[in-house]
Amino acid sequence: MKELAEATGAVAHLIEEFTKLPGIGPKSAERMVHFLLTGDRRTARSLADALHAVIDQVRTCQECFNLAEEDQCSICADPRRDTGLICVVETPRDLAVLERSGMYRGRYHVLNGRLAPLDNVGPEQLTFDGLLRRSCSEEPV
Ligand SMILES: [Zn+2]
Repeated sequence: MKELAEATGAVAHLIEEFTKLPGIGPKSAERMVHFLLTGDRRTARSLADALHAVIDQVRTCQECFNLAEEDQCSICADPRRDTGLICVVETPRDLAVLERSGMYRGRYHVLNGRLAPLDNVGPEQLTFDGLLRRSCSEEPV
């Protein structure tokens, strides 16, 4: 099998950036970059636009620390959700998995990590303050 030429410049930089993503090794990153460059350039442009939109528009919900495009995420803004229940999750991805199940109708609180004293991650590095504030102020319906 013929070896590919060593990538340089912008191509090498993009390969390096893809390898920072979870589960993406150098070979997969190289494959994706070559796909984007050898196929229809609209795919690459669409990917770039989607990344720009996420960077510019997505932020953290002021209530629960979920991903949001407004001050509150769609769950916190939904008056039909049970305000007497708060499900604590580690990441917004965990929240999304629970939401897809359709079984939970309360609200959430995203810690944005987990306690890891050996890595110097304590309650102050997570969103426990917000959880405490919410648990004292929110009333059951
Ligand atoms: Zn929220």
